Amino acid sequence: MSIPDQIRALETLASIDATLRTLDEQLASEKTTVASLKGSIAECQERLQSNRATLTSIEKTRSELTTDARVMTQQLEHSREKLGRARNERETNAVTRELEELRKLVRDREDEVSKLTAQSEGIRMELERIEQEAAQYQTELASIEGDVNAKVGRLEQGRLEKSQERDIAVKAVPAQLYRRYETIRSKRGTGIAQTTDGTCRACHMALPPQLFHRLRREPMIEQCQSCNRIIYYVAVTVTAITQ
Ligand SMILES: [Zn+2]
Repeated sequence: MSIPDQIRALETLASIDATLRTLDEQLASEKTTVASLKGSIAECQERLQSNRATLTSIEKTRSELTTDARVMTQQLEHSREKLGRARNERETNAVTRELEELRKLVRDREDEVSKLTAQSEGIRMELERIEQEAAQYQTELASIEGDVNAKVGRLEQGRLEKSQERDIAVKAVPAQLYRRYETIRSKRGTGIAQTTDGTCRACHMALPPQLFHRLRREPMIEQCQSCNRIIYYVAVTVTAITQ
């Protein structure tokens, strides 16, 4: 197989690989958009769950305290009746102390209940906010999911076709050269580079002058000493001049 033929075969392969790479990037980006929305929704759900658990526990404590306060208020009634029946100062004093203590206990519980009420109000508002946030993500997801799925399907189909094209292109490259190309491509992303003016077009480093002269003299495949890519000479093209 002549060197120009090998170069042409490599160029075909490299162009297919470039397309495949773009397709993979597009696929990844489509999938990322959906995954990030789904992630946000899952995060909202976790926050909802944890806030609901907190709310349940607050409500439980609040209801226990309310019951306590009610029982104590009934005890207060009894103590007041007892005060009416007191026969001497000692009994009066004892019942008065009992009444004061009970009043304080009821007050403490009522204070605690209003604190918990405020807290649970706050959590209910927070729950509403998170529900709205989750609904927005859901709407967004619903509006793009169909398009994204269709696009992913098209991209995957394109990828499959290109891969089949690649299988054929690989067969046109000598086995050893292909292995070298693959090793470089796996490290650098691309496997070939051209030179027109003595610098590598891929890494922009100057080639040793002797190497450049050899590349220019006759069709030849070498490797760039800076980036290792398979390098060959191409004559100045019209586009290269105007650039
Ligand atoms: Zn290079």
